[in-house]
Amino acid sequence: MIAVERVESDGALPRRTGVVVMGGGVAGIATAMELRQRGVDVVVVEKGEIAAEQSGRNWGWVRQQGRDPREIPLAKLAMEKWRRMNATVEAETGYREAGIAYLSYTEKDLAWNARWHDRNAARFDLKTRLLSAAEAEALVPGGTRRPLGALYTVDDGRAEPFIAVPAMARHLRRAGGKIFTQCAARGIETSAGRVSAVVTEKGTIACDAAVLAAGAWSRRFLGNLGIRFPQLTVINTVGRSRPMAAGPDVTFLGGRFAARKRLDGGYTIAHNLYSVASLIPDSFRLLFDFLPLMITDVRGVKLRLGKRFFDEARLARRWRLDEVSPFERVRILDPKPYPALIHDAARHLAAQFPAFAGVEMAEIWAGAIDVTPDAVPVFEELPQQRGLFLASGLSGHGFGIGPAVGQLMAELVTGETPCVDVKPFRLARYFERPRPRPDGDI
Ligand SMILES: Cc1cc2nc3c(=O)[nH]c(=O)nc-3n(C[C@H](O)[C@H](O)[C@H](O)COP(=O)(O)OP(=O)(O)OC[C@H]3O[C@@H](n4cnc5c(N)ncnc54)[C@H](O)[C@@H]3O)c2cc1C
Repeated sequence: MIAVERVESDGALPRRTGVVVMGGGVAGIATAMELRQRGVDVVVVEKGEIAAEQSGRNWGWVRQQGRDPREIPLAKLAMEKWRRMNATVEAETGYREAGIAYLSYTEKDLAWNARWHDRNAARFDLKTRLLSAAEAEALVPGGTRRPLGALYTVDDGRAEPFIAVPAMARHLRRAGGKIFTQCAARGIETSAGRVSAVVTEKGTIACDAAVLAAGAWSRRFLGNLGIRFPQLTVINTVGRSRPMAAGPDVTFLGGRFAARKRLDGGYTIAHNLYSVASLIPDSFRLLFDFLPLMITDVRGVKLRLGKRFFDEARLARRWRLDEVSPFERVRILDPKPYPALIHDAARHLAAQFPAFAGVEMAEIWAGAIDVTPDAVPVFEELPQQRGLFLASGLSGHGFGIGPAVGQLMAELVTGETPCVDVKPFRLARYFERPRPRPDGDI
C-alpha cells in the first residue's frame, strides 16, 4: 500500500445536500472545492480513502506540454491554480514550478517533439520551446550521452501525490464541505427525470445534482444505469528512490526513464516506454472502441492475461441499490507492480546520468490508469440522465489538470458559462463518426 496521507471521515451522513460528489480523487475534491467557493453545500463520498487510487499514485508531473490540444486551455488554467495551491489550501502540496523536459535521444522522438511544438506552442501561447542539443545538455547536466534536443516548458511543474489531494480535501472540510470515506455510492434515485438522491452503502443523501468522479470505476457505475462509457485501465508501475545528494531539479524523461525530484530529495522514477494492460472482459467488449488508441500507442503497452481477468469477471455489472455493490468489494484498487520495469528504468537512468549510480528504491507501487478511446476525458451533464455530471477518463494526465477540472465541473453544475469549450469533452463523441482520435501523449 502506498503512503498517501489519510483524511479522516466525517461522522453522520446528512439527509440532504446541494451536490453529492462521488469519488475522492483530484477530480472529485477539486470539484467540491470549487462548488464550496460558490457557496454550494457539498458532500464527497469515497468508497476507500481520499486519493488512494490514481490521484495518490501518480508520477506528480503537472504539465501543459505533450497534451492533446483539446486539453491545453484547461491545462493552462490548472497551472494558475497550482501556482496558488499551497496558499489556497494553507498547506504543502509539494507544488514547485521546476519545468519539464522531454529529452530526445532518437530522430523519432525529436520529430514527435518538434511536431507537437509547431502545432501547439504558438497557437496556445505556451512557453514551450524546442531546445538544441547543447541547450538540452545544459538544462539536464551530468549526462554521459548528449541528447539530440528537447521539448521544454519552463513553467510546467510538479507536486506530491501523497500529500496534494489530501491537503486539498482538508481545506475543503475547513471550508464547510463534508467528506465520507469507506462510503461507496451504489447508485442514484431520480424524480421527474432528474437526479434526486445518491444512494450510498451508509444511507441515502437527497441532492439537487450528483457528480461522478469515480476514476477507473465510472464505467461500471454508469453501466448499472444503462449508460455506456468506453473506459479501460492500464497498469503503470512507479518507484521512489531514497533521498539523493545531487540530481537535476527539472523533471525529465528520455529513452527508457522518467524522473521527477521529490520534496524529500529523492526521485519518483518510472519507465518511459512500458505499461501493462491486463486483459479483462471489457478489453474484448471495447476492442473496437479502443482500436484508434491501440494503433497510435500500442508500442508501450504490454498485454497480460492473469488473475485480474477473473477478478473483474467476478464483479457484478448489475446490482440493486439495497445490495452490496462492486465498489464495496474493492475498496482500493491496488494493482500488482512490475518492479522489473523500475529496475530497468533506473539502470538506464544511472547509465546516462551517473548522479543516479547505485540509486536505491525505497518503494515500488502501481496504479491503474483509466483511459478513454481518445485519451481525453468526459466532462458533461449526461444527456441520458439530467442532474448527473460525469468527470472521468482523465487518461494518465489528470493530476495536472485536476484543479481546472474542478472549476469546469462547478461551472457546469451551477449553470455558469464554462471556462473552456466543452464540446470536445462530450460522451457522445465516441458514438459518432469519425471516431475521435488521440492527439497527445498519455
Ligand atoms: C501510475 C500513474 C502515473 C500517473 N502520472 C501522472 C502524472 O505524472 N501527471 C498527471 O497529470 N497525471 C498522472 N496520472 C493520471 C492521474 O493520476 C489521473 O488522471 C487522476 O488522478 C485521475 O483523478 P480522478 O479523480 O479522476 O480519479 P482517481 O484518483 O482514481 O479517484 C477516483 C476515486 O473514486 C473512488 N470511487 C470509485 N467508485 C466510487 C463509488 N461508487 N463511490 C465512491 N467512491 C468511488 C475511488 O475509490 C477513487 O478514490 C498518473 C496515473 C497513474 C496511475
